[in-house]
Amino acid sequence: MTRKLWKTLDLLQDYLETGFSREHPEIEVREVAPDPASLLSSVAAEVAGCTRCALSISRRNVVPGEGSLRPPVLFVGEAPGEEEDKTGRPFVGPAGKYLEKWIAAAGLERAACFIANCVKCRPPQNREPHPDELAACIPFLERQIGALHPRVICCLGRIASHALLSTSASLGELRGRVHARAGIPVVVTYHPSAVLRDQALRAPVWQDLKLLKTLL
Ligand code: SF4
Repeated sequence: MTRKLWKTLDLLQDYLETGFSREHPEIEVREVAPDPASLLSSVAAEVAGCTRCALSISRRNVVPGEGSLRPPVLFVGEAPGEEEDKTGRPFVGPAGKYLEKWIAAAGLERAACFIANCVKCRPPQNREPHPDELAACIPFLERQIGALHPRVICCLGRIASHALLSTSASLGELRGRVHARAGIPVVVTYHPSAVLRDQALRAPVWQDLKLLKTLL
């Protein structure tokens, strides 16, 4: 009886530690928590065929996001633009080049971070995503955040800030403070496109990057 009990405990420990049975290695006895790479791949595969909202009609490519699987910072923009729609990669146009300068100013490299958008398909004529489009797409971003566990999330612009912080406060009210989403610190700054249009926003962005650096 005691031998049987120990054998059962031994097998139970096996299951808990490895998810497999040593006695029957061909059988997976419980689901092992997937790694970030497979979680992100499954999001990318889903968005590739996604028709949850009307943006699927006009897109050329979906833009799921890209970067390190253990990023210090997850940068979140609004939506893909023309270059992103062409290439399927986030922030590769002029705004992307500018964002890379910000990332360097924060002492980081683009490849070490993760960059994504609130919606994964380009809105026609680069209009703002509609609320129903955001609502349809944000669950993909939430799954990416859950897989990546970034040290900090940096919202680029009003749309990303409102979507991730569930607020309608102005950027002026949201900047300069550390917020939280799912226990992860969140900072808010302007979208690089807005700063390219209005150089007066460069100084506040520099302040925001300094705040970001203090969290790393
Ligand atoms: S924007 Fe998001 S929800 Fe809409 S079709 Fe593209 S992937 Fe799907």
